[in-house]
Amino acid sequence: MKFRTILLFGAPGSGKGTQGKVLGELPGFFHCSCGEVFRSLKMGSPLGKVFVEYSSKGQLVPDEPTIELWRQYIDSMQQVGRFDPVQDTLLLDGIPRNLAQARLMSETLDVGALIYLSCPDRERLVQRLQRRALKENRLDDANLEVIRRRLENYETESRPVLDFYGEALLRRVEAVQTPLEVLRDVVGILLSL
Ligand code: ADP
Repeated sequence: MKFRTILLFGAPGSGKGTQGKVLGELPGFFHCSCGEVFRSLKMGSPLGKVFVEYSSKGQLVPDEPTIELWRQYIDSMQQVGRFDPVQDTLLLDGIPRNLAQARLMSETLDVGALIYLSCPDRERLVQRLQRRALKENRLDDANLEVIRRRLENYETESRPVLDFYGEALLRRVEAVQTPLEVLRDVVGILLSL
């Protein structure tokens, strides 16, 4: 059985996590942030070390271990009853993040929409990420060069995912609004599905 899924998509700093966290509190939705799953690993564990190695350089973790970790996380959430694929819509944030991941997940996901938090203003994203570095202890937000590399990698590796899912599933939301306004737009989309 495939998971009923909404993809939250957008550049680093576009606000996927902020929206996902709020919506994930609603009954009937389960929010999964791939970055958070990585950050919850013990940093001394083999995959934790791989995560630190790649993310501190602004790079994506290789696809196979990423998908495997995601799958294990979802299975464990099912086992403890936090995620019920029959009742719940999966809100995915930060995965799939490139074409290879989208292909690897195509057997597992039944994607109903891709909500694209669009922010063409890169400097705005840089500012948001720098502000986040002060509030959260994030290695990958701490350094301007790493931030710029992540934004470049987003353009080359992640943006093609938009085309993979195609116009029919795409719902654009203006990311440069207050979080509440973005939430209003996202809720409008979810209600229309
Ligand atoms: P951001 O969207 O701001 O980059 P995330 O919390 O989504 O923040 O991700 C942090 C880091 O975790 C990424 O830079 C990357 O190294 C790693 N990561 C997260 N999701 C994936 C993924 N699907 N594939 C590979 N690496 C990932």
